[in-house]
Amino acid sequence: MAILDPSKGIVRVVFYGRGGQGIKTAGRILGRSLFTSGFNVQDFPIYGAERRGAPVYSYVITSSEELLERGPPESVDLTVIVDKSLLNLVNPEGVLLVNSVFPLENAMSVDMNSFIGKLGSYALSAAAASASAALINGIGRNEVIEAINKEVIANQYLLKKEVEIAVSVFDYVKKLPTPKTIGAKPKKDELVELSFDGPDISTPLILAKGTSTLRKTGAWRLVRPVVNLEACKACYLCYLACPEGVIKLNDESKPIISYDNCKGCMVCQEVCPFEAIKAKPESEVSLIE
Ligand code: SF4
Ligand code: SF4
Repeated sequence: MAILDPSKGIVRVVFYGRGGQGIKTAGRILGRSLFTSGFNVQDFPIYGAERRGAPVYSYVITSSEELLERGPPESVDLTVIVDKSLLNLVNPEGVLLVNSVFPLENAMSVDMNSFIGKLGSYALSAAAASASAALINGIGRNEVIEAINKEVIANQYLLKKEVEIAVSVFDYVKKLPTPKTIGAKPKKDELVELSFDGPDISTPLILAKGTSTLRKTGAWRLVRPVVNLEACKACYLCYLACPEGVIKLNDESKPIISYDNCKGCMVCQEVCPFEAIKAKPESEVSLIE
């Protein structure tokens, strides 16, 4: 029973669970299964401070077409809730698959814990990934097995057990009736046009009090960047790359460095394609220079 089809458009999946339940790994297994099945994939977890038991979620976005979106999607087609205690904390969308021993309204209930038995939460990633893979057109069991073998770090005994669990869950979910789709429909994919701004606009200015503009950080420097304005070709790469934003451009778009604030990291020298910036030890700089 495959109900999501990445060959017909973007499919977005989210796994919700808690630290220690392998939520990130579930995303990796599903992502790799899709990739080896020939789809384009992004998979990435999101969590706050890493802590066992803290909520974690992981996204998998896939399509046979090029994926142009970035970051967490605005809506999803499949919500997989691995830890049922999170059911009231999230806003499920699309097809809802829950790790639950009880049947749930408008959701597909799969008792993943009964499949993993004594292996415990360690094996939840394989169970959750294979349950979701069974709902996606174009992924076979072999791709899931291969992904588990690549993504799960475990000894041969545990790996074998995880594969067995994944195959059982996969076959079980394939036989379940299709649940209703709930929540918001995925929005139409849109490209955001980003216009080009020149470096004088797109480079951030630091104006707030207490920043390097006001703090004279030049005393930290052991070497100073010295610009040879004749060798400089006004490409302004140094201006863009300076992490302190202490390079201005003169009327000819050539760099003027504020030695009051330059920390001497010499990034500017590194990026200059014309070797127009040299490092001069501060010990060789005259005090009145
Ligand atoms: S040395 Fe570092 S801080 Fe100084 S101008 Fe070059 S890039 Fe900026
Ligand atoms: S990177 Fe070099 S050539 Fe380009 S503006 Fe800076 S000093 Fe001049």
